[in-house]
Amino acid sequence: MRKTRYAAVAFAAAAALTMSACGGDSGTDAGGEDTGSSDTITIGIKFDQPGVGFMENNEPSGFDVDVAKYVANELGYSEDQIEWKETPSAQRENVLENGEVDMIFASYSITDERKQRVAFAGPYFIAGQDLLVNADNNDINGPEDLNGKVLCSVTGSTSAQKIADTQPDVNLLEQGGYANCVTAMQGGQVDAVTTDDIILAGLASTDANSGKFKVVGNTFTEEQYGVGISQDSDQCEAINTAIRTMVEDGSWEEAIMANTEGADYSYNDELNPPEPAACA
Ligand code: GLU
Repeated sequence: MRKTRYAAVAFAAAAALTMSACGGDSGTDAGGEDTGSSDTITIGIKFDQPGVGFMENNEPSGFDVDVAKYVANELGYSEDQIEWKETPSAQRENVLENGEVDMIFASYSITDERKQRVAFAGPYFIAGQDLLVNADNNDINGPEDLNGKVLCSVTGSTSAQKIADTQPDVNLLEQGGYANCVTAMQGGQVDAVTTDDIILAGLASTDANSGKFKVVGNTFTEEQYGVGISQDSDQCEAINTAIRTMVEDGSWEEAIMANTEGADYSYNDELNPPEPAACA
């Protein structure tokens, strides 16, 4: 974990010079003593996936965020010690490798390819890839109906990769985030959007999108959401223990229900909640 604990002596010296600039910032008590609260943890989430990972008015929300807060708390970090960083699909491995984040909770599927560069704790959720279409579209009921159509997905996602690998006759438009794909569908540039069902359901249920789109409801993959960590992290076991505790004390169920309320979605209860896998 990244620690930004100041040595009390160094801080006291700096504080003496810049007392007025301290402004009661966390990390020290009135005497300049380190209270420990200057330790922070940087967590990567999505900012544009309502109900999953979302940022509005500096306030993060979503199931990923709730699991992240719970796990961070179990690791000894209160909510105000978390620094949230947006981690779009294509950047997740990079920011873990270069140390810009400590953990990622961003609808991040555990895959063997990604394990070449990063490590995973979890899974803490299992979703499935699906399709989002206009509410009045009755022609697209599964991936087999996509040939010759324009499909939008996100660069660096398993969703885009799956289509590229299995449906070469689909015209794939890649965007930086799924919300951009929904905008493209609204503008008539694409026929469907593909990614995990929980993400699509969240996007379809916002006030702005309500009634305009529907999730086809025909999943064709299993996406195990893991907690991305660097390959040299020693936190995998502790994160898995926190996930198990979250399931056992009912907080997991509470979080998934609260974050999918109002969406046309119910999680697959044969697969969820999953048992975290053994750490490598
Ligand atoms: N779970 C998939 C992935 O990790 C799709 C969702 C996303 O792009 O975050 O690629």
